[in-house]
Amino acid sequence: MSEEKIERNFIEMEIDKDLANGTYSHVQTRFPPEPNGYLHIGHAKSILLNAGLAKEYGGKFNLRYDDTNPTKEKWEFVESIREDVEWLGASFEDRVFFASDYFDEMYECALKLIDKGKAFVCDLSADEIRAYRGDFTTPGKESPYRNRSVEENRRLFEEMKAGMYEDGSRVLRAKIDMSSPNINMRDPVIYRIAHMTHQNTGDKWCIYPMYDFAHPIEDAIEHITHSICTLEFEDHRPLYEWVVKECEFEEPPRQIEFAKLYLTNVITGKRYIKKLVEDGIVDGWDDPRLVSIAALRRRGYTPESIQRFVELCGVSKANSSVDYAMLEYCIREDLKLKRPRMMAILHPLKLIIDNYPEGQTEFLPMPNNLENPDLGERELPFSRELWIEEEDFMEVPPKKYFRLFPGNEVRLMGAYFVTCVGVEKDADGNVTAVHCTYDPETKSGSGFSGRKVKGTIHWVNASTAIEAECRLYENIVDEERGKLDAEGKLNLNPNSLTVLKNCKLEPDFCGARAYDSYQFVRNGYFCVDCKDSRPEALVFNRIVSLKSSFQLPKG
Ligand code: ATP
Ligand code: MG
Repeated sequence: MSEEKIERNFIEMEIDKDLANGTYSHVQTRFPPEPNGYLHIGHAKSILLNAGLAKEYGGKFNLRYDDTNPTKEKWEFVESIREDVEWLGASFEDRVFFASDYFDEMYECALKLIDKGKAFVCDLSADEIRAYRGDFTTPGKESPYRNRSVEENRRLFEEMKAGMYEDGSRVLRAKIDMSSPNINMRDPVIYRIAHMTHQNTGDKWCIYPMYDFAHPIEDAIEHITHSICTLEFEDHRPLYEWVVKECEFEEPPRQIEFAKLYLTNVITGKRYIKKLVEDGIVDGWDDPRLVSIAALRRRGYTPESIQRFVELCGVSKANSSVDYAMLEYCIREDLKLKRPRMMAILHPLKLIIDNYPEGQTEFLPMPNNLENPDLGERELPFSRELWIEEEDFMEVPPKKYFRLFPGNEVRLMGAYFVTCVGVEKDADGNVTAVHCTYDPETKSGSGFSGRKVKGTIHWVNASTAIEAECRLYENIVDEERGKLDAEGKLNLNPNSLTVLKNCKLEPDFCGARAYDSYQFVRNGYFCVDCKDSRPEALVFNRIVSLKSSFQLPKG
């Protein structure tokens, strides 16, 4: 990326301190997704932050599946997550780990706590535990099982593991402090019984560690130095520190929290997306209107554009929401110089040049990208019948309309001046074709300077045009009404998808493959859909329109 990084973020400053004072001699980070859904733009921030820090400090970055809860996890998600992380350009090489591979070590840690008198088996029900816990104003009450002997705790915990008890009948709890002002420290549950098949360990276990116990152990086993997570875990940090200390890990990891990335008027919640998929409103988790990584990729976003976006968002401790327009800005900037600018007509209207010889075709040179000559040029066929955009002709033009109308002359981009001389209409009075005459003297590049025209329109040669489908998108939620209604249901935008079946493309689109993207002159950036496009029936997604009022924030 072109711009220099101006200032260090607060996490970098903390890491600098840790390295300077010898707390750590290296940097090791991780991204720990739970494989219970697809990754979204928020996760991209966490991935790129963690991978970026490892790279910056010459350390390593792990992809670790936090698969300690067998209820919601699926292999499908394991695969999609790996693909997304790789695609984003976060380099984990072969450093892919599963928290469930550490179940033995976690069990050993639990036994260690029992032996130290720091954990006990509790027979209270979930409701009782909740009632005993107290709240912000009332201190908790100690469990009547809190003072069981080490021997009894060990026996009961081993029996829990052996499958002798039913789900929910007993738990293992850390013995910390029921009067702590931090509720997370009030003898939290660290193991529960769950007779369930796990996607990785099968039926080996019927007890599973709780997140707050498992996560620090996973980090410690992998020698993570900086365990970077989002703000909601701030109150859990004392417990994180307690676990790594009491389990006696050397060079224990350190947790640092940052604010989640929120995008305005965008849906990331799994619950909502699931409903949209089930109701058939979107065609899967990768529907281009969503902001899962898979959806952004399908829409035509590039890893570079997302990297840039995350960089612009910065890292902070304060929750805030970023405008979706900034993401659009980043993809425009990324594609602007990289991708060719081609002619495509979204709403076709026939244009016939009455005085152009029938049966003749000439080839006109056209630069592939006006701002980047390195992309070269191509030859566009031009003949008597062309396609133009419906909106580039008006029979009765309003003031300041400089495109085609009867008697008016415009420039056909890269070709000739044409003057409108008449129209054809169907029985209902709709214009079905526009007739023009052209002036051979005005050929583009000929240096003609006889007169000027105010309008330039684009066109596609009719006989060689490729037919394609183009899908235009708007925000899936209604921006005016806000994301949710009074009942918490999504305010959907009925116009979030427009399908244009009959678009006409210049012949150079032949061979366009999934994920190829282009600037369509005047119409925006488009990308070949990876699911529905076929070589003989191309389908394009509009990534973004060409212009926006979005301004990069100063500073
Ligand atoms: P969600 O509920 O939105 O799917 P999650 O937190 O349940 O997200 P996890 O798989 O647990 O998903 O998250 C993996 C990592 O991604 C965690 O470290 C989490 O803090 C981080 N993360 C999740 N959402 C965001 C976000 N919006 N911005 C930055 N990081 C995020
Ligand atoms: Mg989660």
